[in-house]
Amino acid sequence: MPELPEVETVKRGLNEIIKRKKIKDVKIHKRQLRYLIPKSFKNNMINAGALLEVERRAKYLVFVFKHGYMINHLGMTGNWKLKKNDYKLEKHDHVELIMSDQQRLIYNDPRRFGSMIYEEDIDSFFKSKNHGPEPLGHSYNASYLLKKIANKSAPIKSVLMDQAVVLGVGNIYVSEALFRAKVSPLRPANALKPEEAKLVVKYCKTVLKEAIKAGGSTIKDFKKAGGESGYFQTRLKVYGREGQLCISCDLPIANVKLAGRSSFWCPHCQK
Ligand SMILES: [Zn+2]
Repeated sequence: MPELPEVETVKRGLNEIIKRKKIKDVKIHKRQLRYLIPKSFKNNMINAGALLEVERRAKYLVFVFKHGYMINHLGMTGNWKLKKNDYKLEKHDHVELIMSDQQRLIYNDPRRFGSMIYEEDIDSFFKSKNHGPEPLGHSYNASYLLKKIANKSAPIKSVLMDQAVVLGVGNIYVSEALFRAKVSPLRPANALKPEEAKLVVKYCKTVLKEAIKAGGSTIKDFKKAGGESGYFQTRLKVYGREGQLCISCDLPIANVKLAGRSSFWCPHCQK
């Protein structure tokens, strides 16, 4: 599943491609994604005016047009390809955006968990979803987190995975941030000391930024906009390393299931 840094990588790739171009036509080849793409989608896109840029909000890509927004979530397997005019459709191609220079941006999604929606008011879209702040933004800080976790006795790892607390950090990066903050994923959230909450927020931002710098990291294959593989394996210190030795204490990394998700951690370093 593309995590936040991968989505950021796709966003940057798309921005290189779409610079100063317009969407001339839209072809919908397969309507069924996580939600059905509505019939109005094509006309909305064509009438939306110039495509100014692509932004990222957590794990959503937001195509900013002069008159509206196309909000795209990549789900499990969504990816964008840039193709020439003579391109022949491939399996799982859902939507084709034909640009003013005849190049095509094609959305492909084999498992169809992605989504595409056109909205005129982007703020109401994100508000209606009861989303927490974007993890790299200023509003995600230690005093915010302390307030949010004050009445939560669930394990801190599960709380940080809750989209209403902070949006789209993802399992890999929550695990890595907790390791660096030396906080056990099993600790009740409301038992965190203020200085620990501060470290959790700080390292959450650090690991995401490092992964973005590395071009995104992941386990599975993923296509960057333009078609090349966008993933570079970053140096994960705990994630996926069950039974291997901790880089700081030489004792084995453990894996505990929390809310159905693998949670890798060092029981010696993380308290
Ligand atoms: Zn350790």
